[in-house]
Amino acid sequence: MIVTDPSLRDRISDNPRLGHRTRSILRYGDQLAGRSAYLEALHVHEAPGGPMLPRYRWSDPSGKPAYRIGIFAGIHGDEQSGVVAALQILHHLSQETHLGRFLELFVYPVCNPWGFDANRREGESGKDLNRCFWGETEEGEVRLLEQELRAKRFDGIIALHTDDTSEGIYGYVNGSTLTRHLLEPALHAASSLLPRDVRPEIDTHRADRSIITGGYRGILASPPDQHPKPVEIVFETPHHAPLGLQVEAHLAALKEILHLFPQISSQGMDI
Ligand SMILES: [Zn+2]
Repeated sequence: MIVTDPSLRDRISDNPRLGHRTRSILRYGDQLAGRSAYLEALHVHEAPGGPMLPRYRWSDPSGKPAYRIGIFAGIHGDEQSGVVAALQILHHLSQETHLGRFLELFVYPVCNPWGFDANRREGESGKDLNRCFWGETEEGEVRLLEQELRAKRFDGIIALHTDDTSEGIYGYVNGSTLTRHLLEPALHAASSLLPRDVRPEIDTHRADRSIITGGYRGILASPPDQHPKPVEIVFETPHHAPLGLQVEAHLAALKEILHLFPQISSQGMDI
């Protein structure tokens, strides 16, 4: 079942703002969506020629999904492994549908298309888009993502990143107190591929066994007025590790989080 209107898809690939790297992501993702009954290409755009974001929706075929999770990659345009992993998880879900039991997933593989096409961290304006959320911003991609975060009211928000100052995997926890109980097993699963960063300070933040609580202001996160707070995880791989290993580490972490999410959420908020 292809839900994307073909005329819409043509308009997207004609979008003059998109370079060939983002287009190739769209081609691959749309092909996957075309082959899976449970995956839809539902790209986000404001107006013809305006900013757009690739978006895919996957929904548990076995029943009514109970939890809605957003997976976000490529807000820093030079962090390729998260982008590849966000597409690969769609492929894995279409092969092994049990990976997404009880879940509805919205995957945004390229949150900063200009940066991804230019292999640059920042957005087109030169700003770090991942410091611009929930303030006054003129950044088109950030506004689109804020609209998504408001409209979808995710139960879980997972952001994939890479860090060129770290030699290992680590993550940030925010939002619900359940978050830590998902990140720890995710780090454990991914540590079979890449070592954990166990330094007491990572990226200027105090860390406890590869986990940082809090982090920077203005990062991609749930709307400030959303209560109860969703699970919010940032997962980082070491930027200089081989790309394939980074992708596999992201995938291992994602699979573990998706697997545990319904279990841990249904056990309640008092862990
Ligand atoms: Zn990043």
